[in-house]
Amino acid sequence: MNRKYRKTVIAGNWKMNKTPSETKEFMTQLKAILPKGRWCDIALCVPAVCIPAAVRAMRETRVGIGAENCNPNPSGAYTGEISTAMLTDAGCKYVIIGHSERRAMGETDADVNAKVTAALDAGLIPIMCCGESLEQREADITEEWITTQIKLGLAGVSEERIRKVIIAYEPIWAIGTGRTATPEQAEDVCKLIRTVVRKLYNSKSARAISILYGGSMNDKNAYELLAQPDIDGGLIGGASLVPEKFVKIIEAANQPAV
Ligand code: PEP
Repeated sequence: MNRKYRKTVIAGNWKMNKTPSETKEFMTQLKAILPKGRWCDIALCVPAVCIPAAVRAMRETRVGIGAENCNPNPSGAYTGEISTAMLTDAGCKYVIIGHSERRAMGETDADVNAKVTAALDAGLIPIMCCGESLEQREADITEEWITTQIKLGLAGVSEERIRKVIIAYEPIWAIGTGRTATPEQAEDVCKLIRTVVRKLYNSKSARAISILYGGSMNDKNAYELLAQPDIDGGLIGGASLVPEKFVKIIEAANQPAV
């Protein structure tokens, strides 16, 4: 982390978990134990039907609510889809884009790019995910793969808007597997991402952008991961479903910044 130049962000990704009633219950429990200090931004990205309950429950708090996906088109014949305008109107601040579970359902880098652009146009903060598979890591093409994902995902995003984007590095082999990247592995790729941003934009933008690590981050390993200079927070799946665990990760972000 480097709090001097950029925000630390602890974001939860609930995936397809919890009903609206369970959301209300979770938020009540979270509010009761939420740390008062403001050393990081906190986001909870929840299933679309849970957004109203989450926004209502967290209105007076510092927790921003987000969605897990969006459609880049403004409106129209896209049955089952949700536009960025719908998300902002519902009270969302963030939206996860390009999660590997969505990419596995066919989402391309071009789709990711269109969604990032639409999110920025609507005033949402996109949390743009990237990450390599185990095969790609073993074939030693992680650097090339991540560089391509970042370049294509950010295509056409202006220098003024790049700071509003959050990038999450999520190695696919570490998501939901309990197999976390080592702090060194995670740092190496987050540092690479910052270098790619520097080359695409400039040093100032690279220094200002928040880059998160995601992949089995939990209350036990968060401190060490967050101690890395280029890891500015976490995108957390499983551990964000339990208020006590999520709060422990928030607390782990309260450490001397590099
Ligand atoms: C995720 O879904 O973005 C994620 C990182 O999941 P988990 O923390 O469960 O590995």
